[in-house]
Amino acid sequence: MRKWILDMLALQELDMRIRNLKLRLSMLPVEKEKLSSENVREQEAMKEAKTKMQKTELEIKQLEAAIQKENSEILRFQGQSIMVKKNEEYKALMSEIEKCKSKIGDVESKQIEAWDQLEKEKSIFKECEKNFNERSKSVQSELKELDQLGTDLKEEIAKVKSGRSALEMKIDPEMLSDYTRLLNGKRGTPLVKVNQENCGNCHLKLTPQTINTAKKGVMIRCDNCSHMLYVDDTKGE
Ligand SMILES: [Zn+2]
Repeated sequence: MRKWILDMLALQELDMRIRNLKLRLSMLPVEKEKLSSENVREQEAMKEAKTKMQKTELEIKQLEAAIQKENSEILRFQGQSIMVKKNEEYKALMSEIEKCKSKIGDVESKQIEAWDQLEKEKSIFKECEKNFNERSKSVQSELKELDQLGTDLKEEIAKVKSGRSALEMKIDPEMLSDYTRLLNGKRGTPLVKVNQENCGNCHLKLTPQTINTAKKGVMIRCDNCSHMLYVDDTKGE
């Protein structure tokens, strides 16, 4: 292969490394955002579990108050029963007391259900809390790792770039400006190999004239995508 091809391929290899490193670097903010939002979801689940638990605790308190209310009604009726003289009135008060006792029975069974529910909700809350705390820890360390990766990538990019100008100087300025324009187009590599009879970038069939020129090692472009073409004559090396 001609020298210009080898020089440009060396520069291109370096530029592709820079492009890949930059691509990896550009993905980091999205990955960090995703990690943080996962943690937020677990926090939400924990808050929701706590709210349910607090609601049941309040319900238990209300049931407790309802029992107390019935108990004071019973005391009131008992007080009245001492005063009444007629048997019928006494019987009526006793029946009121029975009603209160039966209401208390109903409320107490509701209370038992609520206690059971509260136990379940407490264990769900504990589970959510554990998940959140564990996830927070791992998210923090994963975020740290991503920050470190960002620093490493930036260093690597700087290192690769520092070797670039020496390679650039080897290339004819006009060819270099074409190369740079194609590189900044961000689609594929500027210099592409002829594959069979097709362009290595756009994969369309090339004219025999174009292939012949490329075979001679003279710079020629693809008629379709205008990427620079070369023929790899090192096969069987
Ligand atoms: Zn092409």
